[in-house]
Amino acid sequence: MRLRAMAKINLALDVLGKRPDGYHDVRMIMQTISMYDALDIQIKKEPGIELSTNLPYVPADSRNLAYKAADLLMQEFDIKEGLQIHLEKFIPVSAGMAGGSSDAAAVLVGVNNLFRLGLSKQELMKRGSTLGADIPYCVMRGTALAEGIGEKLTPLPSVPECFVLVGKPSVSVSTKAAYESLRLDAIDRRPDIDGMIESLKTGDLSGITSRMQNVFQPGISEAHPVIGDIIKLMEDNGAMKAIMSGSGPSVFGIYEKRKDASNAAEKLRSSGMARTVYVARMFRVGKPFA
Ligand code: ATP
Repeated sequence: MRLRAMAKINLALDVLGKRPDGYHDVRMIMQTISMYDALDIQIKKEPGIELSTNLPYVPADSRNLAYKAADLLMQEFDIKEGLQIHLEKFIPVSAGMAGGSSDAAAVLVGVNNLFRLGLSKQELMKRGSTLGADIPYCVMRGTALAEGIGEKLTPLPSVPECFVLVGKPSVSVSTKAAYESLRLDAIDRRPDIDGMIESLKTGDLSGITSRMQNVFQPGISEAHPVIGDIIKLMEDNGAMKAIMSGSGPSVFGIYEKRKDASNAAEKLRSSGMARTVYVARMFRVGKPFA
């Protein structure tokens, strides 16, 4: 069985506060895009999970979220056969695009189908939340408001047709460090998430893009100026708006026309500022993983 684990971007990201358990309360507008990791999963006679990946620096053992997702369902349902997983990574790693979470979500969906476990989407999302806060969203996909620690989800109307240019510089940012260095009392500009929801309801693309904002961006781009340089290149080359995704360092820009996104992609490639450059589309729900 072949699965597509799709990346997400945050059209808006706000951090509301720190909870007593150390997690943060967030308010974000999530969007699935057509950039994906490809997973091949198949049953094998011998018990156990065997995982391979095309990237040497991604763990190919029980530390991998795809492995953990398979293990969770196989233990719960006492599955005697084994599972072989091959993971072909295209989503940049540690980049704020939920690659690992999406791989886990795809495996939950895949194992449920392959072994005919009969779990509903909601039941898969609940199990996913025990492995990571973004996993329920990656099972659900589409456009959604995420609250709580990211697990409280409300589906939203789709974004009008447009193109997304993704650029990932080669600097690395740890999500944990990004939260630790975020000074909540110093956030002076927060995204207008309610306004963005209204614009989604009326299908107003410029109302959506003008409200794109990420509270992590000022701090992270100060530490890594290349992020601001990529944003500028995208906006100088036709993006309605460009911001950082998640805790970075990936940047995305929204374009009305594919031609403009492709031209900007060419410029970004030749600038040498981004390690990954990709033109994607907004993904709408209703399409299966496989
Ligand atoms: P998020 O947007 O949720 O913060 P991210 O893009 O920052 O996610 P990922 O690429 O999902 O980060 O994962 C980064 C870390 O998780 C890496 O250190 C990597 O070793 C580990 N990891 C575990 N499983 C995977 C996987 N399937 N794909 C990529 N990284 C994985």
